[in-house]
Amino acid sequence: MKAIAVRPGNPNSVHLRDIAKPRVADVAQGRGVLVRVLKVGVDATDREINEAKYGNSPPGDDYLVLGHESFGIVEEVGPAVTHVQRGDYVTATVRRPGKSIYDQIGNSDMTSEETYYERGINLLHGFLTEYYVDDAEFIVKVPIGLKHLHVLAEPMSCAAKAVQQAYEAQRRLKVWRPRIAFVMGAGQIGLLTTLVLRLRGLDVYTLARSKPPTINSEIVEAYGAHYISTSAEPLTELTKRVGKADLIIDATGSSSVAFASMEVLGHNGALVWAGITGGEAHAHVPTDKVNLEWVLGNKLLLGSVNANREHFEMGIRDFALGEAMFPGVTQRILTTPVRGLDNYQEMMNRLVDDRRALKVYVDVAEG
Ligand code: BGC
Ligand code: ZN
Repeated sequence: MKAIAVRPGNPNSVHLRDIAKPRVADVAQGRGVLVRVLKVGVDATDREINEAKYGNSPPGDDYLVLGHESFGIVEEVGPAVTHVQRGDYVTATVRRPGKSIYDQIGNSDMTSEETYYERGINLLHGFLTEYYVDDAEFIVKVPIGLKHLHVLAEPMSCAAKAVQQAYEAQRRLKVWRPRIAFVMGAGQIGLLTTLVLRLRGLDVYTLARSKPPTINSEIVEAYGAHYISTSAEPLTELTKRVGKADLIIDATGSSSVAFASMEVLGHNGALVWAGITGGEAHAHVPTDKVNLEWVLGNKLLLGSVNANREHFEMGIRDFALGEAMFPGVTQRILTTPVRGLDNYQEMMNRLVDDRRALKVYVDVAEG
């Protein structure tokens, strides 16, 4: 069967190859689920893997099948599988357990090991192919009524985790009632985070460089949040106007914005870094000022990566509520379909060059 792969370490090595079709019995104890892939999304992580900035092949292979944002339909299940059946729409989590205690309790997103295993990213093949098999543990059902949001389930899980982590950590305060949130970045994670925070009733300011109207600014406003173009109103100006934020989620993929966010967080606030920066950028940071304010304000900085099953399920529930409150808005993120695995080069070109493509995904099969 066809698969889109790269040779990690070799820039621009994206290619189509032939790999063996997996079988349900590949997973032990009757726990296998065979999924026919329908759609797969790609994001900046895939771009960086193709730029050889990130990612590794599975041991023994010199290629890595790409794709970690999956959507498919169950074709066959092993005898021990009960929570999904043939014909169900599903997505799959991305990380697979290592050996730490966190991995053993279903929280491999919180592994304490340096090595992490992620399908389509690090040491495990991904979903940009025709079929995959995985342990039922990692297969998450997508309700038929949310089928139209397909590949957004994975990025949504990361947004759901980032917000949940802040609330979990803020239990240190006994009472935390955040009012104002800044979301840095209006890419897919920024937009989905905007949705999650609006569903929690926060006054949300979503910041990006582009001047409105853009599709991104329209989605932000349709969620009832404020779109701020930092070229028209820089972060410091915004803060003078509306005050510092109680919660900031950075999803820009720019480490300088991640650090600049530290200067606009209010007392007792939480700043979550959710962006991945594979480069080598350096920035000038007023360290005395930040250090002083951080301590005097009991502020919190936390990193959030990946998502486990619980976050996928939270994200799916928020999609359902989101459709009830803001009908038809979230699907506008899905701007740029590419037809078929054969068009792998177009997929990569859109991801790299198409500035209007908010979300590129491959339509692998009908279903
Ligand atoms: C994926 C996450 C993953 C992270 C780091 C992101 O693009 O969506 O699941 O943990 O990259 O590899
Ligand atoms: Zn991703």
